[in-house]
Amino acid sequence: MKFYSTNDTSLRVNLKEAVINSLPKDRGLYMPEEIKLLGEGFWQDFENMSFQEIAFEVSQKLIAEAVPPEELRDIVEQAVNFDAPVHNLDKHLHILELFHGPTLAFKDFGARFMAKLMAFLTQSDEEPLTILVATSGDTGGAVASGFYKAPGIQVMILYPSGRVSPLQEKQLTTLGANIKAFEIEGAFDDCQAMVKQAFLDEDLNHRFRLTSANSINIARLIPQSFYYFRAYQQLIKKKGKLVFCVPSGNFGNLTAGLIAQKMGLPIKKFIAATNKNDVVPRYLESGQFQPRESVATVSNAMDVGNPSNFVRMGDLFGNDWVNMKNQLKAYAFDDEQTLRTIDEVKQKFGYTIDPHGAVAYLAAKKYLLENPDDEVVILGTAHPAKFPEAVKKASGTSPQIPARLAQLTDLKKESILLPADYQAFKDKLMSL
Ligand SMILES: *Cc1c(COP(=O)(O)O)cnc(C)c1O
Repeated sequence: MKFYSTNDTSLRVNLKEAVINSLPKDRGLYMPEEIKLLGEGFWQDFENMSFQEIAFEVSQKLIAEAVPPEELRDIVEQAVNFDAPVHNLDKHLHILELFHGPTLAFKDFGARFMAKLMAFLTQSDEEPLTILVATSGDTGGAVASGFYKAPGIQVMILYPSGRVSPLQEKQLTTLGANIKAFEIEGAFDDCQAMVKQAFLDEDLNHRFRLTSANSINIARLIPQSFYYFRAYQQLIKKKGKLVFCVPSGNFGNLTAGLIAQKMGLPIKKFIAATNKNDVVPRYLESGQFQPRESVATVSNAMDVGNPSNFVRMGDLFGNDWVNMKNQLKAYAFDDEQTLRTIDEVKQKFGYTIDPHGAVAYLAAKKYLLENPDDEVVILGTAHPAKFPEAVKKASGTSPQIPARLAQLTDLKKESILLPADYQAFKDKLMSL
């Protein structure tokens, strides 16, 4: 399987290049050159397959000969080692819980698969790989956990001092081994700017073989299609009526759903749910794609003003607005509605939902008013314990912290404290 750039479909690279480069030079995004339908054999066995078997079959279709089947099976078994259960919330409304991985968010699927795949692709390379990543909180934890002890790979994470939650900080700074945390006295934007500059720095590129674990990497996208199949397997009786409602920021999760649909998964429609960062809902209204500065909300992992995967969605819909509008509904909600919904879901169903899931719940409800016979699955992208302040504010009670998160509080933080100054960061890296 080759991968093309959305900016130039005649440019083709192999899997290793797509994964290690992350971004094509022309600043498009990589897409598989062919998204094939799963065969009859797959569907015959489907109901009895384990999640790992599904993941293997789906990834093999998207990666093909780039990884031999035995190795791909290993990668999938190590990466997808926790389930994605469907919880029935209400009549016609379900939540697919994607937060049972080590860092309690769906990003574990992408980060774990990418880590195992990168380690495989570079196993016979002499020079080790150095992953540089800036985080505002969630991505860093998933990447740190996914790459922990990955052979031949070291990870350097930059995070803004005092601006990630205490638990998030522990997730970044307590692993040790091949994971290094740089605590930057500045904002997330400073961290991101330093990472960007490092990629362009000749001295650093001479010293380290740098790569990124960016969310637009194709290796993070592919595993996000697995759990749409797993959801369908659990709701197979609702065949023909299934609609997926995806709380969206950079739209990677939704794009992965579109890929699953293209592989033959019978999905009736998609709903994109956003907070006030509503560039995509506005686009579906008007046909105009107008990126804007992001605004801060309580569903902060969706605070994106220029969703990077939008070009992939365009590509999948033949860059046709009408086509996209027919397949995709989109709704946006504000913080007040989100907080009220966290409380409402708790009162009505005794279920604690996180702020991102609450935005999706609102969108699903709105859709069901117009389409009362459909079955909506909202994607539960994070465990509520990751957002204790918002949940407490909304419902008056703090979410229960799962044991594996709680135990982090006793571990010792180890970070390298630096000013938000590129030269200081570079000097430090060169001295390592
Ligand atoms: C990253 C994230 C999202 C947004 O996902 P995209 O693929 O960027 O649209 C939603 N919810 C949570 C909890 C996240 O961490």
